[in-house]
Amino acid sequence: MQFNDIKISEVEVIHLRVPTIDADCEWGEDAVIIKVHTNTGLIGVGESDSSPEMVKSCIKASMSHGSSQGLERLLLGENPLDIERLYTKMYNGTHYSGRRSTMIHAISAIDMALWDIAGQFYGVPVWQLLGGKFRDEIRAYGTFIPSSIEAENIARVEELLAQGFTSLKFGGGPLGKNAELDYEIIRTVCHTARNINSACEIAIDLASAWRTAGHTIEMAKRLEEFNLLWIEEPITDDVLAGYRKISQSTSQKLAGGETLTTRYEFANFIEKSGADFVQPDVTRCGGISEMVKIYDMAHMAGMKLVPHGFSTGILIAATVHFLASREHGDLIEYSQSTSPLFTSLVSNQIQFENGFVRVPNSVGLGVELNEDIIAKYRVE
Ligand code: MG
Repeated sequence: MQFNDIKISEVEVIHLRVPTIDADCEWGEDAVIIKVHTNTGLIGVGESDSSPEMVKSCIKASMSHGSSQGLERLLLGENPLDIERLYTKMYNGTHYSGRRSTMIHAISAIDMALWDIAGQFYGVPVWQLLGGKFRDEIRAYGTFIPSSIEAENIARVEELLAQGFTSLKFGGGPLGKNAELDYEIIRTVCHTARNINSACEIAIDLASAWRTAGHTIEMAKRLEEFNLLWIEEPITDDVLAGYRKISQSTSQKLAGGETLTTRYEFANFIEKSGADFVQPDVTRCGGISEMVKIYDMAHMAGMKLVPHGFSTGILIAATVHFLASREHGDLIEYSQSTSPLFTSLVSNQIQFENGFVRVPNSVGLGVELNEDIIAKYRVE
C-alpha cells in the first residue's frame, strides 16, 4: 500500500449510553466515539467528551454554506495521513458554525482517529510519530468526588492510597458550596493522605463553584497550611481578570482550562490567567494536533500542561501517547469511574498500577474496542 492510495471512506459516529445509572457510578454514563474508516480496511478510533448528539450533528451535517459544512463530507476521499492539512480543512470548512466549542470537540475526535490511522499505517505507536517517548510510565493522579461525611472521605482516601496513588484530586459533590465545610473536607483529606504518605500531592477542583476572586483569595490564604498542588478552576475559565487577581494575591498555584478549545483560547488563558497549570482535554481542545501547540505555548510561558481527562479508555490512550512524547508530560489524570464505558469499552485499557500507567508499544493508539459493550449500550 502506497502512502497516497489510502482514502477516508466514512466517519462513523457511535453514541453510547448506560441506561440505568448505577448508584456507584461517578461520571461516564455516556460517550461518543468515532471510527474513521478507510478504503484499506484500516480504522482509526477517536472520542469526544461532549454531547453525543451535538457531536454527531457536527460530523453528519450536510452543506449549508462553504463555511458551514459537516465534517464528514469535508473528509470523504481525503488521505487520512494528511493530518495537519485536514485539521485546517475542517477548521476552515466550519468557520461560521464552528471555531470553538462543540465543532472543535468533534474535530478533536477525528484528529485523534487520524493519528491512530497514521500509527497503524506506518506500523509505529502514536508517540513515535509525535517525536519519540521521554518515559515508559507516567505518574497518575486519582480524581474522586468528596462526600460531606467525614468517615466516607477518610475511607476513600485510604482506599486510593492503598491502590498506590501518590497524587490525588477531588472536587464536585459538596465542595465549593460552603466555606466551613470546604475547609473541613480539605483538612480531612490532607491529614488522612499525609498520615499514610507525607509526600502525597493533593489538588482541589472547584469547577467554578467559588464564583468570585475575592472569595477564592480568602479561601486560598486559609488553605495555605495544606500546601495544595493546585487549586483548579475556582471561577469560570472565561474570567481571566479574576484568575489574574487571584494569582497575584496568593502563593497557591492555580490550574484551569478544561473547558477551553483551540490554540486561540489557550493563548489567551496562558497570557492572562497567571495560572501555573493548564489543562486541555485531548477530546475537546482540538485533538492531539492542537495539544502539541498548546503544550509549546504553555512551556514558553513557564506553565505546565497536565491534561484534563475523564472519559473512556480511548481518551486515556490518546493522552498517554501525547504525554509520553513531551518533555514535561509526567502527570496524568486517572478516573475512578465505575461506569462500564470507563472500565470495559476498551478491552486492553491502559491500567493504573502502583502509582503509574505504562506507555504502550502497540501501533497507533493501540486501542482494542469491546464490540459487545458497543452493541449493548449503543443508542441508534
Ligand atoms: Mg476540573
